[in-house]
Amino acid sequence: MTMGPRTLDILVIGAGPAGCAAATMLAQCGHRVLMVDRPSTGRPALAESIPPSAERILSVLGMKAAVDAARFQPWLGNTVWWGSAAAREESFAPGETGYQVERDRFDAVLRDVAARAGVQIISGTVRDVNLALEEQRELRTAYVARPDSQGRDGDPQRVTAAIVLDCSGRAGVIARKGLRVAEASHRTVALVGVWHADIPWPVAQRGHTLVASHADGWAWSVPTADDTRYVTVMVDPERSHLARGVPALDVYLAELKKVSAFAPLLAKATLVSGPWGADASFYTTEHYGGPGFLLVGDAASFIDLLSSFGVKKALASGWLDAITANTIFKTPEMRAEAMAFYEQREREVVKSFRTQTARYAVSATEDSSHPFWEARVDHEKRRPHRRLCASGGRRHGHSLVARYLIARTRRPSITHMPRP
Ligand SMILES: Cc1cc2nc3c(=O)[nH]c(=O)nc-3n(C[C@H](O)[C@H](O)[C@H](O)COP(=O)(O)OP(=O)(O)OC[C@H]3O[C@@H](n4cnc5c(N)ncnc54)[C@H](O)[C@@H]3O)c2cc1C
Repeated sequence: MTMGPRTLDILVIGAGPAGCAAATMLAQCGHRVLMVDRPSTGRPALAESIPPSAERILSVLGMKAAVDAARFQPWLGNTVWWGSAAAREESFAPGETGYQVERDRFDAVLRDVAARAGVQIISGTVRDVNLALEEQRELRTAYVARPDSQGRDGDPQRVTAAIVLDCSGRAGVIARKGLRVAEASHRTVALVGVWHADIPWPVAQRGHTLVASHADGWAWSVPTADDTRYVTVMVDPERSHLARGVPALDVYLAELKKVSAFAPLLAKATLVSGPWGADASFYTTEHYGGPGFLLVGDAASFIDLLSSFGVKKALASGWLDAITANTIFKTPEMRAEAMAFYEQREREVVKSFRTQTARYAVSATEDSSHPFWEARVDHEKRRPHRRLCASGGRRHGHSLVARYLIARTRRPSITHMPRP
């Protein structure tokens, strides 16, 4: 496939949910859109839960029918052991169903929709973007390396576009040019394994995601087929044996042993793939855009996995970003207002999730003074002092911040997260 026109209206870097949402809408508005996606690394795809409330944004983007037709496992709710040995069942309301998706298959569905909307999609790696103006024209230049028939990258080719959307997720092709703000207090790695069982899984609710916390981490399990579940443990790489060079399999199995609620689940199951690691550390960004570019979805910010809202947030971010880019195109005099609106809305979304995450961290164990959980309420310490004084000094090993949060929310529901 040829690269097509070298000068475009919009260049989208990355064809995940954010890139597909933005590219689809902008193509529907009549813009010439090129979406470049990095060739597969051959690494297994993640399994992710997408909430019923994503239905609205999928419908707005014209993607819902295609996603439904792919017949992913329905997600019906969560069974949760959070700060307690007792299971709590949080089923969605009758008629509400989310999706348990294998991300490679899900992303392929979204790419099909984008292609049908007129987006040109190519396989290639955007090596760099020069954000300076091109020859006094309002264009930015990107350098795209395309794979040859053996999968090796060729020489980067120049592509110019009026607006470049960084939808490259954690890779952050533009975001990492000094905009990304990493979480200082902690890092998180998800260790993921795929399990197979011939017998029905010993679970009360088959369509539920299982979530369990323990003293220094948490785990969850997503069913993707009747006989297959992805089981993931979250570890802090610096505070776990991972940092000491212990093999990932040993760390994974040792972490799983801490999750007593999962013992019956895995007793007769076999680990058929993995474990492999995925960086799941938080970050945000200094700014959500600048002259001729916008950061979209995970390229801009990463929220806690516990929310299961990353994909929905990325789709919503892509949608809003498309409106912003279209406004800039059609009414350039509105550029500043459009950018400010986009930035404000994205900041609000991230803030509400961060607050929720801190509340989960507080209620994860009886003693959230463990460094794993303490670090995850840490950012709340930057809140105004007067908001923290309500709960007084330490009790049961909880910090002042933790006690404040416990007083406000005891055992928050994992199912009912704020809706971006
Ligand atoms: C372990 C784990 C579990 C998760 N579980 C859930 C869950 O259950 N539910 C949920 O909603 N969310 C979950 N998330 C979050 C979710 O994966 C992300 O929020 C979501 O994928 C963000 O979409 P995106 O389009 O912004 O980025 P991505 O999905 O990361 O897409 C970025 C795309 O850019 C491409 N790319 C990167 N660099 C380049 C480059 N240089 N050139 C060209 N292309 C490039 C990549 O190949 C990729 O296709 C999970 C995340 C992790 C790590």
